Amino acid sequence: MDKLINENSIFEHDFDDWVKFFSAVGQPSYRAGQICAWIWRRRVFDPEDMTDFGKDLRARLAELLDFSPPEIIREDKSRDGTRKFLIVTTGRAKVETTLIKHGERLTACLSTQVGCPVGCPFCATGSAGFERNLSGGEIAEQLVLMEKHVGREINNVVLMGMGEPFLNTDAVLRAIRMLNDPKMRGLGVRHFTISTAGITPGIAALAASGLGVRLAVSLHAPNDELRDELIPCNTNYPLKELVAALKNYQITTGDRVTIEYALFKKKNDSLEHARQLVRLLHGLHVYVNLIPANENKNGYERSAPEDVLRFQSILKSAGFESEIRAEHGGDITAACGQLKGEENASPRPEPATRERGERMSEQKTPRGRGGAPCRKNPSVGKLKSSKNTNDTKRPNDSTNAMRRRRSSSNGRAG
Ligand code: SAH
Ligand code: SF4
Repeated sequence: MDKLINENSIFEHDFDDWVKFFSAVGQPSYRAGQICAWIWRRRVFDPEDMTDFGKDLRARLAELLDFSPPEIIREDKSRDGTRKFLIVTTGRAKVETTLIKHGERLTACLSTQVGCPVGCPFCATGSAGFERNLSGGEIAEQLVLMEKHVGREINNVVLMGMGEPFLNTDAVLRAIRMLNDPKMRGLGVRHFTISTAGITPGIAALAASGLGVRLAVSLHAPNDELRDELIPCNTNYPLKELVAALKNYQITTGDRVTIEYALFKKKNDSLEHARQLVRLLHGLHVYVNLIPANENKNGYERSAPEDVLRFQSILKSAGFESEIRAEHGGDITAACGQLKGEENASPRPEPATRERGERMSEQKTPRGRGGAPCRKNPSVGKLKSSKNTNDTKRPNDSTNAMRRRRSSSNGRAG
């Protein structure tokens, strides 16, 4: 198992860790509930302010643990109210997160990795290279830090910031469990959405976890040839396998899945593409978000509004629920695919050619310089990441196979 970069950080402790910690220092277990309330509910990070602990205990805590919080080192505000934060995590990674306002409700878009090893050519995060996975604490702390900064509760969390959540599944599920735990932050599972580029083992792990968070899949292409180009991990998890994983996911959870489809001019927005998409999604219970692409400096242009509408009408007449997603934070590069984390990500390496069947596999490949943590085949590892730093421990959170059937509504971000 990888080593946690800052295992002493208070943000890495889940409730059980706190119970064990207090027992080890001869304190009653109710202290665990007290400290979790300070950190995750009251957003108080300095032990000196934790007034229901005596002076000696406060001193002991400060001596044994690292209370330094993550920090916001830059904030940008969009005309539409979206805010983008550059955060230094407690493990000293720099990541970007966004906060999107829908009426009175706030949605936080959290990062799961520093950069992203998948390397989709239209995405600024992917183009900036890959550095490392975030730990569960580093993912969860982004939420409470933003809540402290804006002085109120955030209502929804989407794992749609920097990184591919299912190339860091254990840490992502740990973060969600921590934020969901009523003794910690207590945010309901239905307020979380994980967005994946289609890493099928992660989809299976999410179903088996029984957690009940929502799932979104970035599809963006209705055939393998095009998807191999747009989302390089498709060579490892082709559409047939992805659709089978989604069917199994729905059998297990009963949940509707959100399909994200970004529309790029003359790439994936034709009538024929729409018809292929209808055939591909046949038999799945999905909600399709059509996203007029955010243009980055990489040659992928946004589809014309009339082509977006034509695409949607094909889906609608085939009986699919669909909406055209409004852009949030485009003027401050806070929209989907525009997060880069600046300064931190390594430059994008030369693309490598992959054959279908060369697998991206999460957590199996030992990480080292020059290798992304998600690939078995070393030639695939060359695709991304040249500046690997410390590895991040992913807590071995076992999943329970509790099964649920429920209907769901759509989870979405900007
Ligand atoms: N890696 C995950 C989650 C982070 S990306 C995933 O790919 O799903 C969040 C969303 O932004 C994804 O749907 C992604 O495809 C989308 N995105 C990336 N670049 C974009 C762009 N230039 N225009 C529109 N959407 C983009
Ligand atoms: Fe990674 Fe998602 Fe961007 Fe693709 S779209 S490079 S998977 S963050």
